[in-house]
Amino acid sequence: MKAHDGIYLDGAWRPATGRDVIDVVNPVDEQLVGRVPAGGPEDVDAAVRAARAALPAWAATPPAERGAFLAALRDALAARQDEMAETITAELGSPLPFSQAVHAAVPIAVAGSYAELAATHAFEEKIGNSTVHMEPVGVVGAITPWNYPLHQIVAKVAPALAAGCTIVLKPAENTPLIAQLFAEAVHEAGLPAGVFNLVTGLGPVAGQALAEHPGVDLVSFTGSTAVGRQIAATAGAAIKKVALELGGKSANVILPGADLARAVNVGVANVMTNSGQTCSAWTRMLVHRDQYDEAVALAAAAAAKYGDRIGPVVSARQQRRVLGYIEQGVAEGARLVTGGPEAPRERGHWVSPTVFADVTPDMTIAQEEIFGPVLSILRYEDEDDALRIANGTVYGLAGAVWAGDEARAVAFARRMDTGQVDINGGRFNPQAPFGGYKQSGVGRELGAHGLTEYLQTKSLQF
Ligand code: NAP
Ligand code: MG
Repeated sequence: MKAHDGIYLDGAWRPATGRDVIDVVNPVDEQLVGRVPAGGPEDVDAAVRAARAALPAWAATPPAERGAFLAALRDALAARQDEMAETITAELGSPLPFSQAVHAAVPIAVAGSYAELAATHAFEEKIGNSTVHMEPVGVVGAITPWNYPLHQIVAKVAPALAAGCTIVLKPAENTPLIAQLFAEAVHEAGLPAGVFNLVTGLGPVAGQALAEHPGVDLVSFTGSTAVGRQIAATAGAAIKKVALELGGKSANVILPGADLARAVNVGVANVMTNSGQTCSAWTRMLVHRDQYDEAVALAAAAAAKYGDRIGPVVSARQQRRVLGYIEQGVAEGARLVTGGPEAPRERGHWVSPTVFADVTPDMTIAQEEIFGPVLSILRYEDEDDALRIANGTVYGLAGAVWAGDEARAVAFARRMDTGQVDINGGRFNPQAPFGGYKQSGVGRELGAHGLTEYLQTKSLQF
């Protein structure tokens, strides 16, 4: 894999100040696939200065022109689609067809959506004797995780650019190569120097320096709730805007009358996709007691069919964490119906697709985000019981409801404390606002709602 030995700063690849590096390892076989600089606070500082210097001109660029840059960025990404998929497969371990269809394709669509929004969004509004201008928030510090590594970058960078903000990105240490490839696409799209800057590095070093930097106006973070809490505290103390996309423990609620086989199969696929490393995954399946045994049998069969086609998890640390949760599920009395805590291969970071039955709402595996291919199936008595269970975690990112009657599913979904609900298998919409209720986060990404996160209002009275 191609790797730059510099950071992308003020429109060029430049050496980092220190000599620390990050080894990028393929999770499939633990082979080294590349090496990138581990930037430090001085690199972050230089990047924030470059972003600040570029801000006035970029903020003053007419939105339609910013949209034209975003269209060029979309095209530059599209021209590299295969290379992007191969890069993500090499550093994340996801199967190549999935990398092509999702990891590479979705960001192209999202970049395209912001090319259009930049050109069409109303950046001005009349309210009585006032004209309200939507102005860019300023310099954005973006900190992204590894699970959908390019999507999570584009879901921050594209709306920030559309809004007229400039950016410093600190991507996940496990997946820096796709971030470098993204920077190449930005360069090729002809974005003015300093508008986008990339500092690869470690979270507690480069990430923390970025979150704390006084030259950053908005910190946009996606990742764990623990780190998100810390970033929110730092930003709060500095009266800085903050956007957080955190974890989830989403419920897949199958109401009596639903197409059970379809609901279970789609539900299992939703969890196993990307080896369970999806913040919005429906990791709790809620089934009425009369259909419970049938659903468990269907889920076990569906999960067993995946075998190792799902790919490994991202790292040894993540593998240990997921296997630890599986052990804990067994210890707390849940019934293992497929998979288990033994790694299925010696080399690489593999976890077997795992399904637990007889999971009760108080168990750790029903409350905490596991971030691996592990499904918990819970039994409910009636709809009110199902709702209590569905809403009974600290999270509220996504979910699903299945029913014979769509109106009944919608009525249930409206009572769920969560940011997104798919009704009877509704498709992912890259323009719909995405984000969490409760501890799943603050703010929304994607579409017009994602754009307004990067804008602030100025009211002029006449
Ligand atoms: P994480 O540590 O929260 O990583 C997310 C990003 O934050 C990475 O770029 C990380 O850098 C950076 N970071 C880490 N510590 C930081 C700090 N003190 N200040 C500023 N930035 C910091 O998440 P993880 O370790 O990759 O995964 C742990 C768990 O988080 C997972 O098991 C999962 O439950 C959850 N998670 C959720 C999502 C989501 O989409 N909601 C995504 C990933 C993980 P490094 O890469 O160097 O650590
Ligand atoms: Mg980490």
